[in-house]
Amino acid sequence: MGVDNEQLMAWLKSYDSDDVTIGVVASHSSLQILHGARMEGFKTLGIAVGENRRKFYSAFPGAEPDEWLMLDNYSELLSKAKWLRERNVVIIPHGSLVEYLGSDNYRKLEVPTFGNRGILHWESSRERQRQWLESGGCELPKVIDDPHDIDGPVIVKYAGAKGGEGYFIARDYRDFKRNVNLDEDFTIQEYVLGCRYYMHFFFDPTATDGFQVQGKGSHAGKNLGRLELMSMDRRDESNVDEFYKLGSLRDLREMNLEPSFVVTGNMSVVIRESLLPKAFELAEGTVAASFELEEESRGMIGPFCLETIVNDRLEFRVFEISARIVAGSNPFIGGSPYSDLNEAFMSTGRRIARSIKKAIKNSELDRILS
Ligand code: AMP
Repeated sequence: MGVDNEQLMAWLKSYDSDDVTIGVVASHSSLQILHGARMEGFKTLGIAVGENRRKFYSAFPGAEPDEWLMLDNYSELLSKAKWLRERNVVIIPHGSLVEYLGSDNYRKLEVPTFGNRGILHWESSRERQRQWLESGGCELPKVIDDPHDIDGPVIVKYAGAKGGEGYFIARDYRDFKRNVNLDEDFTIQEYVLGCRYYMHFFFDPTATDGFQVQGKGSHAGKNLGRLELMSMDRRDESNVDEFYKLGSLRDLREMNLEPSFVVTGNMSVVIRESLLPKAFELAEGTVAASFELEEESRGMIGPFCLETIVNDRLEFRVFEISARIVAGSNPFIGGSPYSDLNEAFMSTGRRIARSIKKAIKNSELDRILS
């Protein structure tokens, strides 16, 4: 599924571990990743298509890459693997890299990458995510198989939709029929009313202290590694987040307007402290379950995000998982109310670099790369 260990070891054998460069596609959370890598003393490489992109980074000297790899298109990255390995590059994946390359191509990239590439297979389909999260003890919004059964607000999600684009809300079958595009695959989910919390965790399988994740199933009785809460955000979604200003949903329909869920930004939030133990329980279960997924023995490595809604009974519903760094961690380049409790100025990007630095020191890069 991912990169096999033998292959990874063969690549790493030729690496000069005192001269590792952190490489990242210049987009998504790359400012944070480049800044964090620099803070941990790494050389950095930006990968981009188009000179405009490169110029823009000169506006942020603290995150400007030491070197650039300019491409005509992102799939060209696959053919640059040898060049990248000769420079001891470790690539940090983020949502844009996976989107630009496609998850199949990303798995074929012959360069060491941070985290477990195999887990992306589980992240890449809603059904597999559901299976994974439910086996980890998370409760997900209900799925409505037959649109005739819609009897309250639902959200209709298209399979290929990016960042919430094209989703719509329906109250009944008539609403659904009026808006649906039957040519595309979609899922109908119960619309969960509550407040959204996008919780950014980091799982370090090499650490034996702190909040240890207890294994289950074939790993029962074992400590799997340390779970950390880095930060939490809420997304700004256009235009649903500002819709209320124009009146009720009925008023809006009369104006022929439908809410949309396109992500435009992120802001910092904290959750009430009494909900944190439950948040950790869900994240711990999700990590433990990742080690039990079919054909997936390495489990979660590094950053992941549980996207949740808390209802007025203070119950979490988890509607999605991202098994990599999320752009919602960008408000926390200077630290967060959670990561500050462990170490000041520790962004998720920097935490990734710290993890690589420690693994180099302990000669265990193969435990955190794939
Ligand atoms: P997603 O693509 O699953 O991350 O969803 C995009 C956005 O749609 C989320 O950030 C939420 O604002 C909203 N959303 C997704 N699923 C639900 C749900 N089941 N109930 C309410 N809102 C949802």
